[in-house]
Amino acid sequence: MRFSRAYIPTTKESPKDAQLPSHIYLARGGFVAQVAAGLYNFLPLGKRVLRKIETIINEEMAACDAQEVDLSFVTPAELWQESGRIEKFGKELLRFRDRKENLFVLGPTHEEMMVSIVRNRVNSYKQLPLNLYQIKTKFRDEARPRFGLMRGREFVMKDGYSFHASTDDLDREFEAMEAAYKRILERLGLEFRIVEADSGAIGGTGSKELMVLAQSGEDTLAVCDTCEYGANVEAARRAQRSVIPEAPQADFARFKTPDVKSIEELSHFFHIDPYYTLKAVVKRAVYTQGSELVCFFIRGCDELQEVKARNSVGAIDLVDASEAELREIGLVAGFVGPLDQDNIRMVMDNDTRNASSMICGANEADYHFVGVDLSVMGEVVFADLVTVQEGDGCPHCGGKILHTKGIEVGHIFKLGTVYSAPLKAEFLDENGRSQPFIMGTYGMGVSRLVAAVIEQHHDDKGCIWTHATAPYLVNVMISNIKEESHVAYAEELYGTLQKKGIETILDDRKERFGFKMSDAELIGFPFTVIVGKELANGQAQILIRKTKEILTVDKDAVVSTLQGLMG
Ligand code: ATP
Ligand code: MG
Repeated sequence: MRFSRAYIPTTKESPKDAQLPSHIYLARGGFVAQVAAGLYNFLPLGKRVLRKIETIINEEMAACDAQEVDLSFVTPAELWQESGRIEKFGKELLRFRDRKENLFVLGPTHEEMMVSIVRNRVNSYKQLPLNLYQIKTKFRDEARPRFGLMRGREFVMKDGYSFHASTDDLDREFEAMEAAYKRILERLGLEFRIVEADSGAIGGTGSKELMVLAQSGEDTLAVCDTCEYGANVEAARRAQRSVIPEAPQADFARFKTPDVKSIEELSHFFHIDPYYTLKAVVKRAVYTQGSELVCFFIRGCDELQEVKARNSVGAIDLVDASEAELREIGLVAGFVGPLDQDNIRMVMDNDTRNASSMICGANEADYHFVGVDLSVMGEVVFADLVTVQEGDGCPHCGGKILHTKGIEVGHIFKLGTVYSAPLKAEFLDENGRSQPFIMGTYGMGVSRLVAAVIEQHHDDKGCIWTHATAPYLVNVMISNIKEESHVAYAEELYGTLQKKGIETILDDRKERFGFKMSDAELIGFPFTVIVGKELANGQAQILIRKTKEILTVDKDAVVSTLQGLMG
């Protein structure tokens, strides 16, 4: 490609609301252009990067015998009613009616559609397994579209679905997909971690997320400093505490604690470790139908993990409860406790099971109970409710947990029969019995990956594309196009590189050297060959974008040097 003919509208202006490097540089480098909140046009450079990622995905899927399909973007709302997801997805689903008043949604993901494809067409275990995928635009009316391509409303996703006759076979495919996703991210040149993920209300353990490690990531990961263990903090587990603070000595009693409300105030008041206090967090749990107040109890030294809390009651959302709401059911904020309490649904953290020597609210203003033995409580619902903190023990090896940030670029999930059962998608097994398909789902954020590459690879000048993702690997830059000998050499080099199958752009624009150089850095081509005054000595320069190194090489050695650098 000749730069003079290319549509690459670079600019010095950053988008108004942009904070992240990827958002800024992809817009400034002329890769994408915003249309409206969460909607982007891909310009030629952006489209090339997107295509490269798609090609790698397609190659790795083909190697696993997964087959590409292309499903209708507009999907009948009936399918979403059948699966029961129409309420759960809520406002993220963009719904509309056609001229005949039929209700449709723009596909935010395609489980229902994919099930409807095989339903009544695949009838026998002999036709299984099957793995079908597509790379396609999705639409989710995100509440807060932000960070450019990272969280758009319209975005490109690779979504794959597999169908099996047994859970063993699903397990095998899940492993194959995990390995394929790993290869994709390795080929893209990304540093990543595969972590255990929250499986939502569906439950089960077969859910993993692929996280590109970057400071700007929206997800917090708990990773072990010793072994491979890693989990999204929404799903992270920890080892049993090995060091337990000394227990306070007190017989059971009701104690006046005037205005002592917070855990900090309470542990200060009694001179005890917060481990022995019971923290009550009251939330309004919102369900697909209706809502209720729920009180979550955890040790005072712990923090409530909202996703775990939400899953423990099967809610779709948790919102803070106001003091007025508490008062209505006879609770006093700051003094809520689990004893003699039947005005509210309660869930207690696993780590409070049989806890003794505890201090908790007495459900009366200015009073706490001390010397509480929680094992005296009757029927109690326990769940894992706490956030795993840095320094906690790894559940696998006892190593130390650290927190790090990641960008979720993929999510693979053992679905089982969650969709096939309600949608009545069944096959005849070996014994002639009708069974719902056992399914897996494998998503990858293709347009989010474009941004993730830049989040991990940039500097203060712009993008630094990895070799596999670069829109062009080499930029041949003519410093001054008035110099005929320079133009002649550059043209020849451009031709040679192209013949060798190396994707090259020739910067033949009538612009100043400095201007072209800052474009080269902003766009982030891995290699820029500078054809300039060194040519008089039979030499050219190669700028390595990543290291900022400039190599001066013999003009006849440019191609071989580049090939060496590309590895
Ligand atoms: P998130 O927690 O980031 O909202 P999700 O759990 O809703 O993601 P999935 O439904 O598992 O995501 O979708 C599969 C993949 O699609 C995600 O791993 C992510 O990479 C990508 N993705 C999801 N939502 C968006 C979005 N709004 N913009 C760009 N990519 C997205
Ligand atoms: Mg989402």
